[in-house]
Amino acid sequence: MSEKWNTRTALVHGGTRRSQYGEVSEAIFLTQGFVYDSAEAAEARFVEAGADEFIYARYGNPTVAMFEERIARLEGAEDAFATASGMAAVNAALMSCLRAGDHVVAARALFGSCLYILEDLLPRFGVEVTFVDGTDLDQWRAAIRPDTTAIFFESTANPTLEVIDIRVVADIAHEHGALVIVDNVFATPVFSRAISLGADVVVYSATKHIDGQGRALGGVVLGTRDFIRKTVEPYMKHTGGAMSPFTAWIMLKGLETIDLRVRAQAASTLKLAEALEGHPKLARVLYPGLPTHPQNALVKAQTGQGGTVVSLDLAGGQGAAFRFLNALEIAVISNNLGDAKSIATHPATTTHQRLTEDQRAALGITPGLIRFSVGLEDPDDLIADVMAALDRA
Ligand SMILES: *Cc1c(COP(=O)(O)O)cnc(C)c1O
Repeated sequence: MSEKWNTRTALVHGGTRRSQYGEVSEAIFLTQGFVYDSAEAAEARFVEAGADEFIYARYGNPTVAMFEERIARLEGAEDAFATASGMAAVNAALMSCLRAGDHVVAARALFGSCLYILEDLLPRFGVEVTFVDGTDLDQWRAAIRPDTTAIFFESTANPTLEVIDIRVVADIAHEHGALVIVDNVFATPVFSRAISLGADVVVYSATKHIDGQGRALGGVVLGTRDFIRKTVEPYMKHTGGAMSPFTAWIMLKGLETIDLRVRAQAASTLKLAEALEGHPKLARVLYPGLPTHPQNALVKAQTGQGGTVVSLDLAGGQGAAFRFLNALEIAVISNNLGDAKSIATHPATTTHQRLTEDQRAALGITPGLIRFSVGLEDPDDLIADVMAALDRA
């Protein structure tokens, strides 16, 4: 792969490994293992595998390696490890580097499964976790200690779309030598500047924008070559959360179009958010790309635009939210995001049902809140669909 290529070129050609047949489309090496030319060759490969030498698909596979190289290039990371799901990536980023006695600071507004790892799982193994309001820099300053090993946060919170200042929080963490791990799903790899802003490790659920077409679960951990190969790889090799070659092929094909898709989706989301602002049935329209968003200046510096998700708070509460969902004709009711199809979610009764009412209230997840992931449909059709559904809410 040429270092000179611009992003769109690298997303189409980056990481390609052609077989002796010279196939145009990336090959799916749907094989668990690899044959050695001799017993000596097998022994040598187990001592040290070269860049184009593979042993077992749990350790690595040519199709998976193509995906890792292509996504690392997009993120501006030295290396990447592909995983079976986004949660396998979050788990790997944390569990591979933590041990009993360590201290972690995390933002409280987290995806439910991320919260499970930090709140339930890590403390079981003697890791102390302190939760903060991620948008309050003083809380980070107060919580991060000399013995803090790592910090973890979602750069844009789901579903309230508050944005955490990666540069400032990373600077605070680095003063104490803590590793900065960022779950960057809502920012998307297209608009991410996380590593240049100070993140040490970036995690994605590839299930979202990287596939972008609702087909497969996947994830990826990105970071320095040292962290990926010396810390993440041994953990993943021996615990079994590897991405399958077939999934890696789907994700490679997703990367070919991700820049076009996500830019189009973000432009449609802004258009929808602008159309919705001030609507009489809405108590709030939450979209980081709107000039009225309290963190719009930070958003501009951090990702340049507001992303592909807008959240609407219906003044009529849960009843109105359900009537709205049931009246949608284009957008589907589901819980993925970043998909080609627009998806509407009611967090309070689905993705965040596990939380208590007080916890939901503290995070701003009101009974009327709808998370709306904007797809690739014509934005005018989407706006008409949402407006008609609001009329019936
Ligand atoms: C979806 C999601 C995950 C988990 O990803 P899976 O692929 O579903 O395992 C983690 N973090 C965030 C922010 C997500 O949106």
